[in-house]
Amino acid sequence: MTESRHRLTPRSDPGLLSLVIPTYNEAAVIPHLRARLTSFAAELAGAVELVFVNDGSSDQTLDLLLDWAAADPRVKVIGLARNFGHQAAATAGLDLARGDAVVLIDADLQDPPEVIHQMLARYRDGYDVVYGVRASRLGETRFKRLTAWLFYRFMRAFIHPDLPADAGDFRLISRPCLDALKTMRETHRFLRGMVAWVGFAQTAVRYDRRAREHGETKYPLRKMLRFAATAAVSFSPAPLRVSLALGFAVAFLGFAVAGYAFLRYVAGYPYVSGWTTLVVLLCLIGGAILISIGVLGEYVGRIYEEIKGRPLYLISTTANLDRDAGDHGDCAS
Ligand code: UDP
Ligand code: MG
Repeated sequence: MTESRHRLTPRSDPGLLSLVIPTYNEAAVIPHLRARLTSFAAELAGAVELVFVNDGSSDQTLDLLLDWAAADPRVKVIGLARNFGHQAAATAGLDLARGDAVVLIDADLQDPPEVIHQMLARYRDGYDVVYGVRASRLGETRFKRLTAWLFYRFMRAFIHPDLPADAGDFRLISRPCLDALKTMRETHRFLRGMVAWVGFAQTAVRYDRRAREHGETKYPLRKMLRFAATAAVSFSPAPLRVSLALGFAVAFLGFAVAGYAFLRYVAGYPYVSGWTTLVVLLCLIGGAILISIGVLGEYVGRIYEEIKGRPLYLISTTANLDRDAGDHGDCAS
């Protein structure tokens, strides 16, 4: 992210800061979160609202959030009608947050709220997006660290050169940038890529990502793979080009073998290709064709879902949201 393209105009602290917190089965965390965020809010100069999105939890999360909202009007609760996934839940919170600056943060306290002070300092410098870069990841398995490392490197190399490395969704977004982001209503959402795409003056703060102290990760391998596929496929046709390249490579191999056979024939050596060669070539060609169809299918499937134009999330309960949630074209009741 080049910082020089933007002229920074220093500004004061946001009059209202929104924290957007997607929560899915986080009942074990909520009491700790409540203590941490209450003391964090007391340290802030301006007003704050905590926008919780309950992403169809099947435990006590919603009850705990509603209790908290009843005790504290700064706590807003958006209850989704079912589990829509982290990116959709975050979108719901971003849509309904009203702050002059919004911070997207996980419920599990892996991203320490105290880092927001550093983010606010950069906001005052004039930056529109301040994303948290994980200097270290504590308490995560070696496998998760390795796959995350590979993911960011691969994405930056082939799909998304602007995507900041090792930055999750923990970030501060200014109101003008958020309004731009809200115009992007695609179904398959890779928020951190979308934030990079909108541009604006962006910068990083480094922090140590803590271990999850309560509850467990809601991103099993299956969800991580889907997330990586969305990140790759929803942002660029590069995977299609890979299958094209694969096609060329296999065709080239075929020509090379044919050329070799021809030369042997001309030179007077009979060329009798063996069973192994045939089977290997058959597998290569068959594999290349199926992979290409698979990649194509991934795009076609996504086009199909996109074209249905369904709402990104549905809201079934709210608390303390004094603005009509229906503003955004999504159903509220
Ligand atoms: N989350 C969500 N919906 C989901 C999965 C996760 O709202 O379907 C929330 C979860 O409650 C947490 C955040 O997204 O606040 C990040 O999830 P998690 O901590 O499990 O991911 P990890 O940090 O392990 O990548
Ligand atoms: Mg986490």
